[in-house]
Amino acid sequence: MLLHVDPTHWLDEEGTYPDAAPQLWKKLDRIGLLVSSGCDLKPLHGRPTVAKCKTRGCGCSMFVARTGDDRLLVYCPMCGKEEMLISNWRSTFWGRRTGWAQKSSSSNAFLPFLPSHYRR
Ligand SMILES: [Zn+2]
Repeated sequence: MLLHVDPTHWLDEEGTYPDAAPQLWKKLDRIGLLVSSGCDLKPLHGRPTVAKCKTRGCGCSMFVARTGDDRLLVYCPMCGKEEMLISNWRSTFWGRRTGWAQKSSSSNAFLPFLPSHYRR
């Protein structure tokens, strides 16, 4: 069964995990893993991910592919039972293809937390 997912519906206004809904965190972990696995794919390209199919008795690696209309299709190539279509992923923090530069002026800068011996 194809599940449609828009991760921005689950993240809070700042785009981070919602404090008020910890029951969503595991789902968000899985979406984040899949988005970060597929965000740099060209349209109509795909690859396997480290996420496993949750169908009982399957456990195959899920594949992620970028569709022609810029969504991410996640599917199990073995049983075909788990299928997910992720839209709006590009605005999430997993979907940024350029990463973050080390700029202290940017509110999105995570790299100031990088230990200094890795900054060279
Ligand atoms: Zn499967």
